[in-house]
Amino acid sequence: MAGPATLQALNARIVACHLCPRLRAHCTDVARKRRRAFANWEYWGRPVPSFGDPKARVLALGLAPGAHGSNRTGRPFTGDGSGDFLFPVLHAAGFASQLTATSRDDGMELSGLWITSVARCAPPGNKPTPEELRNCAPWLDLEMQLLTELRVVVCLGRIAFDGLLAHESRLGRLPKRTSFVFAHGAEYELPGGLMAIASYHPSLQNTNTGKLTRPMLLKVFKRARKLANL
Ligand code: SF4
Repeated sequence: MAGPATLQALNARIVACHLCPRLRAHCTDVARKRRRAFANWEYWGRPVPSFGDPKARVLALGLAPGAHGSNRTGRPFTGDGSGDFLFPVLHAAGFASQLTATSRDDGMELSGLWITSVARCAPPGNKPTPEELRNCAPWLDLEMQLLTELRVVVCLGRIAFDGLLAHESRLGRLPKRTSFVFAHGAEYELPGGLMAIASYHPSLQNTNTGKLTRPMLLKVFKRARKLANL
């Protein structure tokens, strides 16, 4: 895939992507039916473009948009429970300008951080298929190529962690994948020079049960900040 010159141009291409018929149909269907609480919203309903500081040294890599969160608002982690948990942490760690993320025009600005995901369309049951993840992978490759200041990747969840390892493998930079094991707080120096930190995903399933607490996630992002020399 020939690469666009800027992250903005890349986002424009991502938004127009139709490679996964099942996901495109699901996003459109959710956007048409809507949740009662958001009956007056015009849902985004398309692939969700990434967001943040183009000079970011830290990348937060998530799983996929939420059906009534990013798929509604059009911005990663904006407008759902995961974002309600994540953004106060990003604010406390010095990456986000405000505590809450509610819409694309809420004034949120990120500094030193870029947010993306391994799948960019909301999947049914929050589960993209392996084929859909493979379809979306070239977007991550292009994006990471354009993030020229990148030093640290925070992988939010096991699927994001695997997605980063797959990215390194595609670039021929990961001879032994078995050395990299997902565990919350695990840190790895990747052969290409990037640092990876694994974290549990801030899904409601993890945060409501206490599997992931605010101090645990804050520690991860403060560590990312330190590793990135920010
Ligand atoms: S998940 Fe990725 S590859 Fe699939 S349609 Fe959405 S943007 Fe395209």
